[in-house]
Amino acid sequence: MPSEPVAGPFVHRVAALACCVLAFGFATPPAQALTVFACEPEWAALARVLAPRASIVAATHARQDPHQIEARPALIAALRRADIAVCTGASVEVGWLPMLQQRAGNKRVLAGAPGMFFAADAVELIDKPASVDRSMGDVHAEGNPHLHLDPERLAAVASALATRFALLDPAGATGYEQANAGWQADWARRIDGWRERAASLAGRGLAVQHTAFGYFWRWTGIRAVADIEPKPGLPPTLGHLQQVLGLVRAAPPFAVVQTLYQDPQPGQWLAERIERPLLALPSTVVAEGRAASLHGLFDELFDRLAQAAGAAP
Ligand SMILES: [Zn+2]
Repeated sequence: MPSEPVAGPFVHRVAALACCVLAFGFATPPAQALTVFACEPEWAALARVLAPRASIVAATHARQDPHQIEARPALIAALRRADIAVCTGASVEVGWLPMLQQRAGNKRVLAGAPGMFFAADAVELIDKPASVDRSMGDVHAEGNPHLHLDPERLAAVASALATRFALLDPAGATGYEQANAGWQADWARRIDGWRERAASLAGRGLAVQHTAFGYFWRWTGIRAVADIEPKPGLPPTLGHLQQVLGLVRAAPPFAVVQTLYQDPQPGQWLAERIERPLLALPSTVVAEGRAASLHGLFDELFDRLAQAAGAAP
């Protein structure tokens, strides 16, 4: 009877599965899974944590500048299908999202609709300019919108997003609340670890390009001593780079930091002259590898910065 021991448990497993599927089916009909359009990868990653059953599309990836995206037909089609759009807001997407909204013709994700979620509405922004005019460059008038690199603000956005998912999909509300509670507990433990790591970086100086990591510097106590952008949003010029070099030559920062989507040449120019590394760091969740999750992204930033800071004299 060699087949008995194999067939027996298999039949039992099928029977058990059928019983539970039926029981669940009658007790709580499965909620309609949400279709989520995430403007940036960090919001796709957060949505995946809070709504694992949702169908999620990220409109951009880490090697694209989220300020400058082309309103391609594929993005219009994706927004047309969405129950909710999850974006940064505070004008990051001002150059492309309104056009997508207009062309998609999906009332669920128009500004002001519950299906249009802006992370920047859930938290206070830093670096709000006292006054804004065009001569200041393509400045972020509402403040620095790149808020997801502050782990505490990210947690506040997670709770707000879970609440919004529950509003749009009441049948799944308990699931979103539980997913958020579980994630928050895990995230709080990670924040404790990152706080310790930040202590060894606090006070150290970096040269940067744009305010992409502004919240991360503020949270860790790292100082951005120079910005190789002549004005916010404008590409570096040789004249400005020479000014920056003059400014930092006497006490060089421990590295020059850029995002994965910025042209490395200007940063490299400065890095070579001050004999410090150019770090191209992920400013959001990447497609694969360690920084492919939200916590992995923060771990990666701490590792790369700690390594560079430790190596600098
Ligand atoms: Zn920006």
